[in-house]
Amino acid sequence: MSDSGTRVGTDVKMTSYWLDTAVPSGDYRTTTIPKEVDVAVVGAGFTGLSTALHAARAGRSVAVLEANTVVWGASGRNGGMATTGLAIGFRQALRRYGEQRAIGYFTEYNRAIDLIEDIVRENGLDVDYARSGKMNLAWKESHFEGLTQTADALRRLVGQPVRIVDRESIRSEIGSDVYHGAMVDPLGAGVHVAKFGHELARLAVEAGATVHENAEVVDVTRIGDGTTHVLQTSRGTIRAGKVVIGTSGYTGRPFGWVQRRIVPVGSFIVVTEPLPQAVADELLPNRRMASDTKNFIYYFRITPDNRLLFGGRARFAQSDPSSDRKSGEILIRAMHHVFPQMREARIDYMWGGLVDISMDQMVHAGEHRGLFYSTSYSGHGVQMATYMGKVMADVVSGRPEANVWRDLRNPWIPGHYGAPWMLPLGGAWYGLQDKLS
Ligand SMILES: Cc1cc2nc3c(=O)[nH]c(=O)nc-3n(C[C@H](O)[C@H](O)[C@H](O)COP(=O)(O)OP(=O)(O)OC[C@H]3O[C@@H](n4cnc5c(N)ncnc54)[C@H](O)[C@@H]3O)c2cc1C
Repeated sequence: MSDSGTRVGTDVKMTSYWLDTAVPSGDYRTTTIPKEVDVAVVGAGFTGLSTALHAARAGRSVAVLEANTVVWGASGRNGGMATTGLAIGFRQALRRYGEQRAIGYFTEYNRAIDLIEDIVRENGLDVDYARSGKMNLAWKESHFEGLTQTADALRRLVGQPVRIVDRESIRSEIGSDVYHGAMVDPLGAGVHVAKFGHELARLAVEAGATVHENAEVVDVTRIGDGTTHVLQTSRGTIRAGKVVIGTSGYTGRPFGWVQRRIVPVGSFIVVTEPLPQAVADELLPNRRMASDTKNFIYYFRITPDNRLLFGGRARFAQSDPSSDRKSGEILIRAMHHVFPQMREARIDYMWGGLVDISMDQMVHAGEHRGLFYSTSYSGHGVQMATYMGKVMADVVSGRPEANVWRDLRNPWIPGHYGAPWMLPLGGAWYGLQDKLS
């Protein structure tokens, strides 16, 4: 037992529930790396796999180079929530960017969920995809007022079919009394992210792309007139006309320019044993993808086999086995606070991963010195990384206008050369804001 009462079995799996319950579409650890391709994609998460799928379907020769295995990174470790809206609030987007741009950025996320749905439907994928909606839960009374104003703005300016649930009716949406109300958006969706990622890899290969696991890109050189890149990988060398970087919070030295613009922040998840149907129905009767309004956010959902998945930032720390366990213990206490009826539930899984957060918490995608990149999904990449893969396939084919984020300033994070020394400071700052809001 943990000190919080929940049974954490000695055999708790310190691995992603999603990865543990999905079958890879192939073993790509020894595939032969081609000598030359039109497009080399770095990273086999949703960004990389979707880029590969769409570029290969457009007739390009494509190789995906992955340091670990398919969806090893954030794509296989997240909450499985394809939700509407930006990482920042819609009213904040209105203040920063004005009406037209804020609406444009917001609706891009609706399109991103539609793309996942299209891929699932058109290819007959069995990936537990469901448009069961999302809800934002107000941690404080003042947050509820904010949600009400946001809902008004979204209905009026975007036509988003959101609705407000007040505290008196909250039990129609959640088996908890800690929240002050919610904003529900029926357009959010859930998906089994590892099944989806493995299917993306299969579809990309069927379209003609090659996938190479255990192939870390350690160096990239631009040669000749700049139209060719030589990529050194841990499994050999490959030449490519275009390079697309999709390495999110795992971006390292060969891509220092991108790395210095991303703070990799740990996000952590615990998953319970399968719950009786009646308990799952009490916790989240409508199976919404749920998150709350704190900076030290909690997010949760019911998995396809009726477990409660409960995640959060927990400690503003990096993710490693010891950090994942400490964060897991914090999350278990949080889960008990939100759902006291879970006190006796056994914890079967506990893990963490890195979220790629930018200074402005906006997506950043474009080209720098001949290298294309799409990163900084700031915790909202299930849908957006998949979508940006399609966009980047267009961009490398000479259609930069497909990328709505291209004009955003993408500043360097001062003093950030690699190790994210600023995490404790960020944690203290956001914790204070949570207290004061
Ligand atoms: C715990 C957690 C919960 C989250 N929950 C949600 C959620 O519910 N909803 C949501 O929308 N988003 C969520 N996110 C964010 C979302 O998962 C990510 O934004 C998205 O998966 C990013 O996809 P990606 O393909 O860009 O990167 P990743 O999936 O991280 O893939 C990057 C890959 O690049 C590889 N790589 C790195 N460097 C190299 C190199 N030099 N050579 C070769 N390969 C390299 C890595 O091994 C990795 O596999 C969550 C993230 C985490 C960590």
